[in-house]
Amino acid sequence: MSIPPQKSALPRRIDARKLVQREQQLEGTVPRDALPRLVSSTESVVGDVAVTLAFARDLQRNQIATGHVELQVELTCQRCLQPVREQIEADIAWGFVWSEEQGKNLPRSLDPVIQEGDELDLYQVLEDEILLNLPMVAYHEEECVSRDEFHSGKAPEAVEQQENPFKVLEQLKGSSNKS
Ligand SMILES: [Zn+2]
Repeated sequence: MSIPPQKSALPRRIDARKLVQREQQLEGTVPRDALPRLVSSTESVVGDVAVTLAFARDLQRNQIATGHVELQVELTCQRCLQPVREQIEADIAWGFVWSEEQGKNLPRSLDPVIQEGDELDLYQVLEDEILLNLPMVAYHEEECVSRDEFHSGKAPEAVEQQENPFKVLEQLKGSSNKS
């Protein structure tokens, strides 16, 4: 098999076992239209998702894939509620197994990926990986809403700095009780 040209779409369905056997390296993209859960949990997905994957056996004979996934999304800024662009990057360390039971025997450094039957939906596994790496909240780096507007109300220091006469009284009482 010849090396596929860069930036072509990755195959959707793979047999991890075969790719591990061949020590296959994959480099390509996943079209955003193929990732409906990601699309619905972001404002938008900017461009396609770039992926590199290397299939192999590790020293313990586990069938693994390591690599990297990278994309840009737009999330809602929690300050001004406008879209904010975020770069999402994640390192991949998958251990392929054929049952949940097998997954428990993998070292902690590997995320178990269960292939049921002869094929695996690679896009779905990648989508899971991306969703796990989405930030919970997003903000613009610049001050998109002025500080005064955002922290509305009185500054708390003004209140605290006032002398509390009762506190002084309590202190006096406390010292007299001790004697
Ligand atoms: Zn903002």
